[in-house]
Amino acid sequence: MTDSYLLSLRDINYSYHTLFGETKVLDHLSFGVKEGEFAAIVGPSGCGKSTLLSIIAGLLHPEDGTISVNNPDGSFSYPRIGYMLQHDHLFEWRSVYNNVTLGLEIQNRLTDERKDYVNKLLSDYGLEQFKDKRPNELSGGMKQRAALIRTLALDPQLLLLDEPFSALDYQTRLSVSADICHLIRQTGKTALLITHDLSEAISLADRIIVLSKRPATVKCELPIRLTVKDHSPVAARNAPEFNGYFNQLWEEMKDEG
Ligand code: ADP
Repeated sequence: MTDSYLLSLRDINYSYHTLFGETKVLDHLSFGVKEGEFAAIVGPSGCGKSTLLSIIAGLLHPEDGTISVNNPDGSFSYPRIGYMLQHDHLFEWRSVYNNVTLGLEIQNRLTDERKDYVNKLLSDYGLEQFKDKRPNELSGGMKQRAALIRTLALDPQLLLLDEPFSALDYQTRLSVSADICHLIRQTGKTALLITHDLSEAISLADRIIVLSKRPATVKCELPIRLTVKDHSPVAARNAPEFNGYFNQLWEEMKDEG
């Protein structure tokens, strides 16, 4: 594995231990994520994708293996992590604005500069006039946009996205994923997306990492190069290469179901 990776995972093993026994989830799993890259992880349900993100986020500790960091400035400090889940987890007792600034408030970083940044994102993504509303007055798509703005407000270096669109209906899913993809690319963030939707992975990611069934190991990695001028996820689905990638992924996944 080359040293150009921002984050390199090598030989990661992980098992859950319960009263009913041991479940081995990750088996000598190795891959890397490059600075500024949008990588997607696909794999059968229950293979260990969420466990893997929890390990990268530092919420779980691997039994074996190493995670090393190689920042562009040569430092080795662990990247600031932003974590976005399937559900928005917005607090109903706070306004939308007070939700998106909550992390900054807790970290005592609610500076004028961060407020300006948050206000710009709220305005760019159609939420400005909903700032003072409660989350239950927002549509599902607006809530996920608010959840992303809350995550970006803290200026993370690595965004972990665990099926962030899967609770949305198909049309909303396409438009929210387009916005989120645009926002991530515009800010140059490094992102790691878990999805079970192969088309979504192809239309959003620079590279797809395919995991085997549990205990998960990396089955293959597929770099995605689409010849479309407009890099929106909807346009990507019309790229001439799209079907080829889909069939390739389908072949890789069909033995793992
Ligand atoms: P995925 O995200 O790919 O669907 P998960 O990482 O959520 O998979 O889970 C991988 C496996 O670990 C599953 O078989 C799941 O049942 C098991 N698992 C997940 N969390 C726990 C836990 N806290 N205790 C015991 N087993 C767990």
